[in-house]
Amino acid sequence: MANVLTELFGLEGRRALVTGAGSGIGKGIARRLAQAGAKVAVCDLEADRAAAAAAEIGSGAIAAGCDVSDEASVAALVRDVAEQLGGIDILVNNAGIYPTGPVAEMDVADWDRVMAVNLRGPMLCTREAVRVMRSGGAGGAILNVSSIDSLHPSFVGMSHYGASKGGLNMLTRSAALEFAPDRITVNAICPGGVETEGTQAAFGDGLKDQLEERIPLGRVATPDEIGAVSLFLVSPAARYITGTTLVVDGGYLIT
Ligand code: NAP
Repeated sequence: MANVLTELFGLEGRRALVTGAGSGIGKGIARRLAQAGAKVAVCDLEADRAAAAAAEIGSGAIAAGCDVSDEASVAALVRDVAEQLGGIDILVNNAGIYPTGPVAEMDVADWDRVMAVNLRGPMLCTREAVRVMRSGGAGGAILNVSSIDSLHPSFVGMSHYGASKGGLNMLTRSAALEFAPDRITVNAICPGGVETEGTQAAFGDGLKDQLEERIPLGRVATPDEIGAVSLFLVSPAARYITGTTLVVDGGYLIT
């Protein structure tokens, strides 16, 4: 039994970079990958927060500060992580922001910031990490953290967010096609509501109750549950899956 689990889900010898992993879903994903044996680089906007998360995760996790929307910052991040870990086999594009604002009152700077972090960021990280994966010659796995809002608008005021994540789904498919000859898979997950540092305020204002009333499984997810599904998609068990978007929402979208 143990051998089968190791063969299918073990990440021993794999090197993973997870963005926005100082808190929330990213930290949950980084923890699961480390538990499966990967050497993990925890990246976050705040270097201190990344360091605290890496220390909490343990298993030799390293930390790095980076703004994923900034080209030079991403290039430096990937260079440093590849040097420290000896390569990169797994990239998880998780860093994302979700401010609210209706289209009719949209501030162009808010629109641009959401696109820069949620869409340009994954493209820059993918571009840089793929160069490292290709030079390693052993394939790789890229996972993009999208959202159910990429498929269905949950609330008024999330148009920039939904558009950025819809773009991320398409980037996922395009990149999957482009990198298949290199045996680099590219997939996305679409979580529904997840209890994180980022959703704390909105959930406290009654949003959590509203969501849970509609979710067939009756509750929002934990970051560890999203981490478990992420582990599957970057594991050997999923090596024949590429270009897919997997909904992880407790059944929300079937209602
Ligand atoms: P979170 O608790 O706010 O954590 C996101 C982390 O990313 C924070 O540590 C944040 O740092 C960091 N970050 C923000 N901008 C960054 C940048 N430019 N460069 C590097 N790091 C940056 O958010 P979350 O709820 O875990 O969400 C994580 C991802 O899941 C996002 O892509 C989000 O769209 C997606 N998602 C979340 C939910 C949900 O219900 N929570 C549902 C569907 C999809 P700072 O705090 O310093 O800004």
